[in-house]
Amino acid sequence: MEIWLNDAVTMKKPHACGTNQWRVVRIGADIGLICNSCHRRLLLSRSDFIKKVKKIKHTPDSHDTSGQVIINRLE
Ligand SMILES: [Zn+2]
Repeated sequence: MEIWLNDAVTMKKPHACGTNQWRVVRIGADIGLICNSCHRRLLLSRSDFIKKVKKIKHTPDSHDTSGQVIINRLE
């Protein structure tokens, strides 16, 4: 599974606000997400993230912080 900054993420379960669409804002030991609807931030460990994610889609804004495309492999 590949994940880039600004990827559009679909979670298996909807957030409390009703949407299951998120955007990736941080990639590190934890994955940082922002809810597309209520803009709450969420930090998930990589293993939690992999359990909860349904789909990851690259967007025209997807990239790493230096502007270059980077691929983080999640096992
Ligand atoms: Zn929300």
